[in-house]
Amino acid sequence: MISIAIDGPAGAGKSTMAKKTADELGYIYVDTGALYRAIGLAVREYSADISDRDELRALLSRIDISIVHLDGEQHIFLDGKDVSHKIRTEEISMMASRVSALPEVRSFLLELQRDFAKKYNVVMDGRDIGTVVLPTAEVKIFLTASPEVRARRRKLQLEEKDGVAADYDAILEDIIKRDYNDTHRDIAPLKPADDAVIIDTSDLTLSQAVEKLLEVIKEHIL
Ligand code: C5P
Repeated sequence: MISIAIDGPAGAGKSTMAKKTADELGYIYVDTGALYRAIGLAVREYSADISDRDELRALLSRIDISIVHLDGEQHIFLDGKDVSHKIRTEEISMMASRVSALPEVRSFLLELQRDFAKKYNVVMDGRDIGTVVLPTAEVKIFLTASPEVRARRRKLQLEEKDGVAADYDAILEDIIKRDYNDTHRDIAPLKPADDAVIIDTSDLTLSQAVEKLLEVIKEHIL
């Protein structure tokens, strides 16, 4: 199986670009952020106190999270319910960022992600795919863009794709906060793998970025 790891900060365009790239290659696209979001949602829905490690562990052993692909779209299920839309709010983004710093959460999700890559050719996007989840991925890409560009894209994505009203300043603030959390956590911090190709998409259109991505991938796997 071939694995393509795409990491980078929130709003760098990973999900849109990774999905298009996967479609182009006929691979399965896996959005790992959705898994952390589902745990963030579970913490909120079940009112769990995550500062209490026993309570967190009990929650993780009780919940069931799965990824299902329907008509080429990734859906995420929490305890049998499709929560793909529910996890897209800014509140859940922040919860995801908080829970993602907890080692129990990261190890809980590790096997799920690796199992996928064992079964299918994948384009997997996240923060630590090239560094931790799939360190032997055939291609590793680190996608980035300025915080302002990322906030603008996030706003558009929330409004167009998910139908959620969004405020630019609040999103920019969240992005800066999440960047800080993601790069400063002790475990699996956001950083490019030593052998990752870094692509800055600030000045690229979506199709230019996808073209660049495919170029890099083809250089590595063909
Ligand atoms: O990619 P997305 O913005 O949906 O991810 C939500 C949060 O999940 C991120 O801010 C990050 O804290 C966390 N995450 C992670 N590792 C991944 C994917 C996401 O820590 N592989």
